[in-house]
Amino acid sequence: MTVVDRQEWDVVVVGAGGAGLRAAIEARERGARTAVICKSLFGKAHTVMAEGGIAAAMGNVNAGDNWQVHFRDTLRGGKFLNQWRMAELHAQEAPERVWELETWGALFDRTKDGRISQRNFGGHEYPRLAHVGDRTGLELIRTLQQKIVALQQEDFKETGDYESRLKVFQECTVTRVLKDGEQVCGVFGYERESGRFFVLEAPAVVIATGGIGKSFKVTSNSWEYTGDGHALALLAGAPLLNMEFVQFHPTGMVWPPSVKGILVTESVRGDGGVLRNSDGKRFMFDYIPDVFKEKYAETEEEADRWYDDPDHNRRPPELLPRDEVARAINTEVKEGRGSPHGGVFLDVSTRMPAEVIKRRLPSMYHQFKELADVDITAEPMEVGPTCHYVMGGVAVDSDTAAARGVPGLYAAGEVAGGMHGSNRLGGNSLSDLLVFGRRAGWHAAEYAAGAAGALPRVDDVQVDAAAAEALRPFSAEAEVEEPAGGPPENPYALHQELQQTMNDLVGIIRRETEMKQALEKLAELRVRARRAGVEGHRQFNPGWHLALDLRNMLLVSECVARAALERTESRGGHTREDFPSMDRKWRRINLLCRLTDPTGGLAATDPVRGQITLERETTDPIRPDLLNLFDKEELVKYLAEEELYE
Ligand code: FAD
Repeated sequence: MTVVDRQEWDVVVVGAGGAGLRAAIEARERGARTAVICKSLFGKAHTVMAEGGIAAAMGNVNAGDNWQVHFRDTLRGGKFLNQWRMAELHAQEAPERVWELETWGALFDRTKDGRISQRNFGGHEYPRLAHVGDRTGLELIRTLQQKIVALQQEDFKETGDYESRLKVFQECTVTRVLKDGEQVCGVFGYERESGRFFVLEAPAVVIATGGIGKSFKVTSNSWEYTGDGHALALLAGAPLLNMEFVQFHPTGMVWPPSVKGILVTESVRGDGGVLRNSDGKRFMFDYIPDVFKEKYAETEEEADRWYDDPDHNRRPPELLPRDEVARAINTEVKEGRGSPHGGVFLDVSTRMPAEVIKRRLPSMYHQFKELADVDITAEPMEVGPTCHYVMGGVAVDSDTAAARGVPGLYAAGEVAGGMHGSNRLGGNSLSDLLVFGRRAGWHAAEYAAGAAGALPRVDDVQVDAAAAEALRPFSAEAEVEEPAGGPPENPYALHQELQQTMNDLVGIIRRETEMKQALEKLAELRVRARRAGVEGHRQFNPGWHLALDLRNMLLVSECVARAALERTESRGGHTREDFPSMDRKWRRINLLCRLTDPTGGLAATDPVRGQITLERETTDPIRPDLLNLFDKEELVKYLAEEELYE
């Protein structure tokens, strides 16, 4: 039997980004002994990369803002497919979460009269994003980290041990959520540096692992985004919701090739940047969809006036929701009006003085100067769509963040589905992390306290199976029996094939024939990935790590492709060339992916033999008082006939 270290905790949080850290703080403050596990160094999570800000209707810059307006914007952005209760809680609680960060030491940019400054962003009716230059995520993580250290210091005073009630296990990867019958009983993982296996036993596990971008070739996401949490939940028996909705951010760098996909923050447009094609035309005026016509300026003059006088002018179309802008750029490039390197031009140089650009967008200035040798105070940037965010995710209860059908499992942050519907508004992720991270930690702690009398047990058979699964890449040559027969495969080559497949066949514009091809290719890759082989040993072996991550990326990619094939309409982050319009009938339909085994045997959790199945479910009707926040004429554009009647 493989040596496996074991420890017992009340709550285990997988992920130390914004959602994970906020969950851990809450669980610890509610009395749960809490462990946090993360793949990278503590403080290095993907959240650090967030640039633009945190959306919260504080009304600091425009007093007209309030949670109802934020709720409306969020539903419009998500094309009314959001879990409306999540959107309601999010809009109501986000301001309090931002204030709380200040009390924990965060330093936001200020308005002239000393309040937290808020900036404009796509799809938000008022300036709403609390920010720290274009480095907001860094400040968020730094503050949460500082709060964790403060709690550890309190614990030291009481117990003599800093880590007695809150401990971070950094550079560790979880590969399985363990179960006792239907209930969660802990996690299995390995230390990335030493390769040692460990089990953390706990009655409650919060998954906060972020997104799935590394399944696509061009992405703004960091190396950690391999869909681990999505796959962990699937393998533990929880369904994933609406995985077809993947956000392609309109503005990623397109040149040089080594930086393709790196994000150019939406703040560039929020602060006045404009998009032009190779003819010099501000083309977004040609792409305002009917549902948004009344809210966006029709002329450049009106759009420009809006920056100084938003109450009497309409917004520039560059600030349409991301899905609209990404599709418009895609069309411009496809129709031959793109920039030299296959993007379009994003210009701030003619819109703001150089010193203002450097002050408001310092990271962008350095990013382009250092990576592309472009001075954005003097010339335009070249930008194009990049895979950025997944709206789909673990199906959770809106109030408690409990994963559906698996007692003891919770999910928060990007890994959870539903909050953003078919398309997320910029800034709504950082607020989502704080609001639902807190809720997940709170309910996980309560659940763990309730389970204390009859703790679920981790059985050795499961631990051995998890260890054998993790060790398989070292004996790929022995994998000769069906269905995995064949020579060992190189995990890097498999990853490249996967990324190319998802980019080309399940990307920003989707077609039935291509998605069917993608599913065939994914099935082939899934079999070959079982033979992903590595050399050497378990001590820091990136090839081995990737071989293990492949399981997750393949499962998640299949969910995306299956759901995308099923949804025969275009909505938000899902665009079908063969079904180009939004169809009101689909507004009420959620697609759930599960991992099941057609033979009903143990293979249900075997990523090669288990099958991804799709089911449709009808969404709950939106509560009438929330519907009353919209004009009837607007609702007619989104809601199905029977919903309007109801
Ligand atoms: P993360 O911050 O990614 O944290 C995930 C954690 O899980 C990490 O600690 C990772 O190590 C850990 N992990 C993953 N897998 C495992 C595993 N198997 N075992 C153990 N640990 C694991 N949103 C906004 O609202 N405003 C913005 O301005 C903004 N700007 C952005 C800019 C960029 C460049 C990008 C890429 C995204 C931006 N977003 C923004 C989106 C936002 O940053 C993310 O959606 C958000 O940070 C996700 O946070 P999270 O806590 O869910 O996950």
